[in-house]
Amino acid sequence: MPPYAKEEMDMTKTIMLSLHAALLILAAGAGAAAPQGQDSGGAQEESIRIGSGELAVVLGADPSPAEKRAAELLAERIKDRTGVATAQPGAEIRLRLVIGTAATNEKIKAFAAGRKDIASLGPDGYCIAAEAGKGDLYIVGQNDSGVVAGVGRLMRELRYEQGRLELPAMQIADAPRMPNRGMYLWARKHYFAQGDQVDRYIEELALWGCNGLAFWFEMGQVNSFDDPEALQWLAMYRRFYATARRMGMKTGLLMVVNDAYKNSPKDLRISPIIGCPNWYLCPSKPGSVEQMVAWQEQVFKALPAIDIYNLFPADPGGCSCPDCTPWPTHGFWRIAKPLAERIHQISPKTEIWVDTWHLNHPTFGGKDWKNLVANLVKDRPQWLAGFEVGLAPHHRFAAMSAEDRKCYNDANMPLMVFPDISMWGNHPGMLVNKEYWKSLQAELNDYSPDLMKGGWPYSERWNTDIANVVFLSFFWNSKKTVETVLDEYAAFHFGPEAKTGRELLDLLDDSCKDPQQPQKIEQTLAKLEGSVPEWAKRDWRWNEIKVSCSRFRVRK
Ligand SMILES: [Zn+2]
Repeated sequence: MPPYAKEEMDMTKTIMLSLHAALLILAAGAGAAAPQGQDSGGAQEESIRIGSGELAVVLGADPSPAEKRAAELLAERIKDRTGVATAQPGAEIRLRLVIGTAATNEKIKAFAAGRKDIASLGPDGYCIAAEAGKGDLYIVGQNDSGVVAGVGRLMRELRYEQGRLELPAMQIADAPRMPNRGMYLWARKHYFAQGDQVDRYIEELALWGCNGLAFWFEMGQVNSFDDPEALQWLAMYRRFYATARRMGMKTGLLMVVNDAYKNSPKDLRISPIIGCPNWYLCPSKPGSVEQMVAWQEQVFKALPAIDIYNLFPADPGGCSCPDCTPWPTHGFWRIAKPLAERIHQISPKTEIWVDTWHLNHPTFGGKDWKNLVANLVKDRPQWLAGFEVGLAPHHRFAAMSAEDRKCYNDANMPLMVFPDISMWGNHPGMLVNKEYWKSLQAELNDYSPDLMKGGWPYSERWNTDIANVVFLSFFWNSKKTVETVLDEYAAFHFGPEAKTGRELLDLLDDSCKDPQQPQKIEQTLAKLEGSVPEWAKRDWRWNEIKVSCSRFRVRK
């Protein structure tokens, strides 16, 4: 049985953590001095009540940055939502939450010995063991990303009330099915203006199991590599990649193969093609390939080690000159091949993926992408990790037919997806579109599960948060239903008002057909306004949801 299919075990008992002022993060040495867990021999204990200073988060003697940060985020979340203050050192500790991997934490190592579920955890997996009556609770990660995902899961299982916490007793062993559970954040000022919020968001995505962060360095926004604005963007990327690394995530870079700076040499420019700025370079003009490889190399080297490099073909990109046509096997390949070889030479560990977004467009060769795929399958260059395919049924030229998907399945190469979650039907406020997400899920599951390695949704604004979580959940387990994910999301972000919050999300769904939609939205929002905990309203998501509600004004 694959690890992701493991049954989650019974969650019957409830551990009541009445935390009035009870959180302490300790190194293992300090934890060892604490009293042992309560004797559970024969005791019929339904719950554990914890007073001041009685819960400690116990890390190993030399915890990883991911472990330390996950523990801090857990402590912050509990404090923000319950008011529980950090315990004073020396306070009696009755309950310890031990976090880490067998490699970083001796207590985890001892606990994991003899546990088959932990020994067989797949990559990035975690185990949560929380037994009523035991003094020690465990979050065991297979690695950093697993620890972070496990802490995120625990945060979502906790029930937060003013002055106390409730945790159902549980034994969970879970691991993701796909290794690349990424997020592509579109670097635009409206999205990235507040660096601290982006940092926190990257961390929150990691808590949902995200293990990859991708950006596109868009040359055409600036005049040259030395443009102060370009340097600012690069500094910002380095900062966000560092945040991602600290959470155990991979880094990704999407680069349009024939991208160019705004003041590019005029004699090397493309013949105009739809959706492509005219300053891009034509790969068929003498000297242009060398120039483009040099530019891309400069960007690549200015960033920390990149794990995944995507060669993006179009939208934007392309050239309509006769020598570049059809684009996939001519212009695109003329630059993609030397570029990939150079990146591979600089960094052999970097995975290089070929994206085929938008290539169904007649101007981009119609079905010539099939020749590109066939050539690559035949040649199998050493640098090639696989193909990234569009997941965009509403996009005229990125949509894939069942026949197209079969072509990729037959190619028998690893696959990633680039889901379009926000480029169509834009509207202010939080996006909810269950039917659309289900159609994307069906497409995702139409690819061979052995080949599908994950992907990164195109997230261009804060309002894609729910869609982001839905896709991270699919990459973890592609059979998980949209309804289940929305339930989890509502439980986490509306707390005790999860049911009402969920009703509101359903009403905001773009596919909602309820004739009373505006009136019900007004009523449900008013109900939530009066009952949802203050911590839910402090979250930026609350504002996105309110903006979304404002689209439905009731006429009076
Ligand atoms: Zn050309």
